[in-house]
Amino acid sequence: MQVVGHFINGEIVTDTQRVQDVYNPATGAVSRQVALASKATVEEAIAAAQAAFPAWRNTPPQKRAKVMFRFKQLLEDNADKICAALTNEHGKVLDDANGELIRGIEVVEYACGAPTLLKGEHSKNVGPAIDSWSEFQPLGVVAGITPFNFPAMVPMWMFPMAIACGNTFVLKPSERDPSAPLLIGQLLKEAGLPDGVFNIVNGDKVAVDTILEDTRVQAVSFVGSTPIAEYIYATGTKNGKRVQALGGAKNHAIIMPDADMDNAVNALMGAAYGSCGERCMAISVAVCVGDAAADELVAKLKPQVEALKVGSGTDVSNEMGPLITAAAQQRVRTLVTQGVEQGAQLVVDGRELVVKGHEDGFFVGGCLFDKVTKDMVVYQEEIFGPVLCVVRVDTMQEAMKLIDDHEFGNGTCLFTRDGEAARYFTDNIKVGMVGINVPLPVPVAYHSFGGWKRSLFGDLGAHGPDAIRFYTRRKTVTQRWPSSGVRDGKQFAFPS
Ligand code: NAD
Repeated sequence: MQVVGHFINGEIVTDTQRVQDVYNPATGAVSRQVALASKATVEEAIAAAQAAFPAWRNTPPQKRAKVMFRFKQLLEDNADKICAALTNEHGKVLDDANGELIRGIEVVEYACGAPTLLKGEHSKNVGPAIDSWSEFQPLGVVAGITPFNFPAMVPMWMFPMAIACGNTFVLKPSERDPSAPLLIGQLLKEAGLPDGVFNIVNGDKVAVDTILEDTRVQAVSFVGSTPIAEYIYATGTKNGKRVQALGGAKNHAIIMPDADMDNAVNALMGAAYGSCGERCMAISVAVCVGDAAADELVAKLKPQVEALKVGSGTDVSNEMGPLITAAAQQRVRTLVTQGVEQGAQLVVDGRELVVKGHEDGFFVGGCLFDKVTKDMVVYQEEIFGPVLCVVRVDTMQEAMKLIDDHEFGNGTCLFTRDGEAARYFTDNIKVGMVGINVPLPVPVAYHSFGGWKRSLFGDLGAHGPDAIRFYTRRKTVTQRWPSSGVRDGKQFAFPS
């Protein structure tokens, strides 16, 4: 059976001492295996990145950007191959895979602007014949650890900016869908990136812990679930690294009584059930203000959720694919059952969905709950499946308090026609990414992506201006070249 290896110093390396099965979630069959890196293999990748750093750091930013320009073109030329790998191992429908890739390419486009983005700040004559400037220097070897749900896009939130800033990179992608990142890594070589600047190690906790402990790694970007994000942040910072760790989510949409209900329903269908709910920006809670809004929303959602076309992601007529693993499928079913047991009203039950011809696939149909309350497990936990919970409240303030009290603060959205309500909401809600009649307010590449509360550990988000700050270190130089004849005497006071 094919074993997906690592990419170290420009070569595919396969250590097969430990391997793990990789599934096609639509069929439930093992399609290949992935090598789980040993400590020594990870150290080899870090050493390659360390060795490549001095030359890459000194490569002019414009030349680094040229590699990114070629890389962007290669990503577009190879889109079909990459999307096929995404669908085969993640399960998402091809359209969605293509959307993911495009959002990743947009970060590469942003990274092409590195020469401009890295321009420093200059002040002439901060004192007599004294000039001062701040410049942004790369950190050295940086690492990225990424989740299964965006195997192409999330790594591309990280390495294009890190590399364009002059760092070298070690990526540890999710072991559940490793083929797309490997394909992408090889395209970087084809784009002219020197060997060792970008490396991939596949693996599990052994690989992650090696990265966290190695003193050569200067910074770690992580995206994944909150408990692991918290662990990465605590361990990485304890070991002296700069860390950004993006975690889980429970994104609420508020539906105001004046909302355009058809628009809200359409938006919620995509935002709750797209990618089978396996998105950190998925809307999983619809908070309706007033029973009339709730009754109308549920009545309009029900037939649409029942009519969702669920099946293999390779069939372009399908709207929703399978979940990533059998364990994820079982977890979602169990959580839905708990919701029923705790008194929520299950309006659409997708637990026992069987897809003809794909009986062993990891499918769950769309599920819709009404009358969910905040004490229920389905409200509190990130389900990461195709489950939308409707919560009924009386006022917008009550809806906002629910959101503010939740441990996560990634994304949220308000559906309304009222500008004053929208302005109040955007100003006050305790969430990092906010939409008004936009259900998935995922920032574009030239803005930064990041949640609040337990959805982000660290100060800086992904891509956009935050990425320049995260992947560089400021140095401020104060310089004087006194002309002959102008000599100050000794000065013991603090310079002012
Ligand atoms: P995960 O936390 O299980 O895995 C993420 C990464 O951590 C993987 O590379 C994995 O190998 C590694 N890992 C897992 N367990 C580990 C351990 N015990 N020690 C060290 N490393 C470990 O997450 P996942 O299931 O792959 O992805 C889904 C989660 O990611 C969801 O919670 C989702 O909300 C979150 N996510 C967040 C964002 C965001 O931007 N906030 C984006 C995408 C996904």
